[in-house]
Amino acid sequence: MDSRAFPRKHFVLAGLLGLGLCSFVLADLLYIEDSSEPAEETAALAPPGIAPRAIADAPLPEIAGEPPAPQHTVTHRQVAPGDNLAVIFRRQGIAAAELHRVLASKPLGPRLRRIYPGHDLTFTLGEDNSLLKLEYSPGPLQTLAFERAGDGFVGREVTQEPERVVAYKHATIDHSLFVSSQRAGFDDSLTMRLAQIFQWDIDFVLDIRRGDEFYVLYEELYLNDKFIGYGDILAAEFTNQGDSFQAVWYSDDNTEGYFTPTGKSMRKAFLRAPVQFSRISSNFNLRRVHPLFKRTMPHRGIDYAAPRGTPIMASGDGTVTTAGRTNANGNYVVIKHGEQFVTKYLHLSKFARSIRKGARVKQGQTIGYVGATGWANAPHLHYEFLVSGVHKNPRTVSLPDAAPIQNDARPAFEYQAQPLIALLNGYKQQIQLAFRDLPAE
Ligand SMILES: [Zn+2]
Repeated sequence: MDSRAFPRKHFVLAGLLGLGLCSFVLADLLYIEDSSEPAEETAALAPPGIAPRAIADAPLPEIAGEPPAPQHTVTHRQVAPGDNLAVIFRRQGIAAAELHRVLASKPLGPRLRRIYPGHDLTFTLGEDNSLLKLEYSPGPLQTLAFERAGDGFVGREVTQEPERVVAYKHATIDHSLFVSSQRAGFDDSLTMRLAQIFQWDIDFVLDIRRGDEFYVLYEELYLNDKFIGYGDILAAEFTNQGDSFQAVWYSDDNTEGYFTPTGKSMRKAFLRAPVQFSRISSNFNLRRVHPLFKRTMPHRGIDYAAPRGTPIMASGDGTVTTAGRTNANGNYVVIKHGEQFVTKYLHLSKFARSIRKGARVKQGQTIGYVGATGWANAPHLHYEFLVSGVHKNPRTVSLPDAAPIQNDARPAFEYQAQPLIALLNGYKQQIQLAFRDLPAE
């Protein structure tokens, strides 16, 4: 009896009803904005009608008069670097024959031949140190359990569903995107995922500015009251240099991904930036965005300064028409995307495997690595974007829309997306209200 029993949309609707309760976090929010404590800005909504976890997980009361259980001991071990199961069994004083019986149990036994540092093992041992049960957890949600059955063991795989709690974050960018996100309690993996949602609209390498901000509605995953990681980003808004973009997650049998509130896909034919956004490149470029842009436009391309070896991505699906070398370009790649579009990538340290003339590439596929070959003083990618043979600014050129939500899926889209957008907007209003009410200092 907990949230796992509810489909997500019900959960979210319940959360929406709970939005009225959200004002209780305002006091915290006011406080948080000048504190560097992470996580406090998270406003977790406990959906009404769902039993508290503590009750759901409470141990069963002991039944009076039950005969004493047979003596057994339970020990937990964490796999250390260099460990294997034979070593751990020996250390536990369990006979090698037991190990062989566990490994022989089909089909799961062989999976214990490779165990990894940091993973958990639980031994249940009988009085004579015989093995009654062995549990191995390769992740917080997964356990392989082997129980004694006669002479051997029977293994089963247990998968646990985490509890999904809807949470919010807001951050205003005053340093790099990563630093500002961390201060708001976001970890880097979530920041990367946020950037990926908007990567067709925003160049996260060059275009992030002080004062940009984002609001995110996302899931935190809990198992037995313990935070174990992040679920999906459900909806988000990113404001870049005054332009706001909203995205909402939607999935049905035919499609899944992020869409605008009106049902257009966030995906487009081209990525705004063909280099992977990373901590290093974003920090580096924040300091030199303007002069760089002005200087590079006359030579009809954009320079992305990045450490040597940074992966370069095909900005759209297409066919490689050149993967070669000239004195000026160094190692370079030209990709043709349909009849109209051509992209060029210069000064590569090397090509990715399989990148040669005629190769078909997918958007986001690594085609090579940043270098300083040809006429280049320092490692950078020189990127050009041509429409019908004419150079365009890839960061501002308007791009054809990808397939929107189909008409027959409209009702399902509205049903899923609107509550999420409403939650996001409600949260945004609360934050803005909180700031407006701040006393002037
Ligand atoms: Zn250049």
